[in-house]
Amino acid sequence: MSDRSDDPRAYVLGGNASTLAFTSSLVADNRQVTAWLVPLAWTPIGVVLGENWQRVGIAADNLAGWTDQTFDPADERSFVSSLRELDLLARIGWSAPVPETLGDDVVVNLDDIPEDILDALAHAPESLVQCAICRRTCVRDHFVWNERRLCAWDYHATVFGKRGPWRDAPYEERLFETLPQAPYVAAPLLEEVGVDAVLAIDGIDDALARRLVNETIGADPAHAHLAVRTSGGYTVLRERSAAVEPAADEAPLDQPPGGETP
Ligand SMILES: [Zn+2]
Repeated sequence: MSDRSDDPRAYVLGGNASTLAFTSSLVADNRQVTAWLVPLAWTPIGVVLGENWQRVGIAADNLAGWTDQTFDPADERSFVSSLRELDLLARIGWSAPVPETLGDDVVVNLDDIPEDILDALAHAPESLVQCAICRRTCVRDHFVWNERRLCAWDYHATVFGKRGPWRDAPYEERLFETLPQAPYVAAPLLEEVGVDAVLAIDGIDDALARRLVNETIGADPAHAHLAVRTSGGYTVLRERSAAVEPAADEAPLDQPPGGETP
């Protein structure tokens, strides 16, 4: 009974590192066609589509020019769809209802879309904000530290860097409530801070998980550790260099007396 022409459809015009543009109708109204700008966030686990779209009117006779200009080929993440096909669709007066969410089931030109963004179309959209440090678009509630919303890169560098909440001893029970919380720990970002993820716990009883975290930390007193509460459990990180607590009789020579390590 479903008449296919009544199904919501989207023709993706192009995209870049921060935005994807699509239209659902090439029928001009007041010599303009409507396009929707969907914000994008690049994360270590892939691209995420934003929930809030912006509506723009584009001169119907300059759709190709607008697309070319908006998605500058100098940007390595920019792409533009087949403009010949766009021209054909315009000539037949193609029009469909605007979809409520952009998924691979509604996009008519999946072949034009880079793989990263195809993957994003398979997942639910998220609320996006700008990172408090670098202003890059990031997922709103993924990486929050001291009430600041950060991108994955800045979160890993800040929380798992030298000034992060590292420990030399197992956690007392109450301290488990104060652990950094993140949906996931991205292994490639740990390289930059010289940290290894030595234990990842997912989906087991919490009391047992906490015991395992503390056993792991207690078994290696020579290194500083940091436990992270992840969406499914805990990840324990270990600093690669040995803990910088020197024994009293071997103070480091390269440190000015009373000086703080930078
Ligand atoms: Zn950032």
